[in-house]
Amino acid sequence: MKETWAVLETEHYTFHYQEGSLAAKEIGQIAAEQEDCHRQITEKLVFTPRSKITYWLCATRKDLMEQSKFDFETNGVTFTDPDDPQIYAVYNDECKCTGFHEDVHAIMCQYANPSSSAVVEGLAMYFDRVWWGIPNDRCTRVYLEDGKYEKVEKMITDNDFFYYQVSDIISYPIVGAFTAFLVEAYGIEKYKKLYHESDDMAATFAQIYGKSLTEAEDEFVKEIMGRTYSAEEMAQARKELYS
Ligand SMILES: [Zn+2]
Repeated sequence: MKETWAVLETEHYTFHYQEGSLAAKEIGQIAAEQEDCHRQITEKLVFTPRSKITYWLCATRKDLMEQSKFDFETNGVTFTDPDDPQIYAVYNDECKCTGFHEDVHAIMCQYANPSSSAVVEGLAMYFDRVWWGIPNDRCTRVYLEDGKYEKVEKMITDNDFFYYQVSDIISYPIVGAFTAFLVEAYGIEKYKKLYHESDDMAATFAQIYGKSLTEAEDEFVKEIMGRTYSAEEMAQARKELYS
């Protein structure tokens, strides 16, 4: 099947797309946007990946599942082989699964493989900044106010809890907002050290930050609760997140 795909090589990517598809029509723009994402990610993280990223732009979720042989139907997935990272992304009128998220995974798998899935997804969500168009911090505020908030400490130290017990609508924006808090308050270097961790996340966190994950989470919650959002912003967030 893949032999019939057209290919575009750019500095950091090899894009595959099907002739006659929306991706084919917009491939120039897609390539420019992903190169820009790549630049922003590698500049912010001060990291130069060694491998190019291969993209497969699929017309539908079903098509993505067939092409990638991935177990679940999804809008985007990254196979994180550090020597050959591959991204499968749905690209059609309703869903354009390009942008930062999968590229962060494809780049950072070449840097480290942290034991905590919440740390991995937190970094991708930090670059995405939003969930369904609502900023991560505002989603977090909604969940805090509505009693839907889940503990970062538990999500970071318990992969099963993060992946299977908490809905991604809740977990992803919260870990994204927490990552932004850590990077903004304590700098990217400390965060990179944490990202390198593949053993005991809680112990390493305390070592790097000089405080426990629980203490840092208390600061984070206080910071989010101290922010000012208008009634319109909160209403819009609830409409998007709960509909
Ligand atoms: Zn992800």
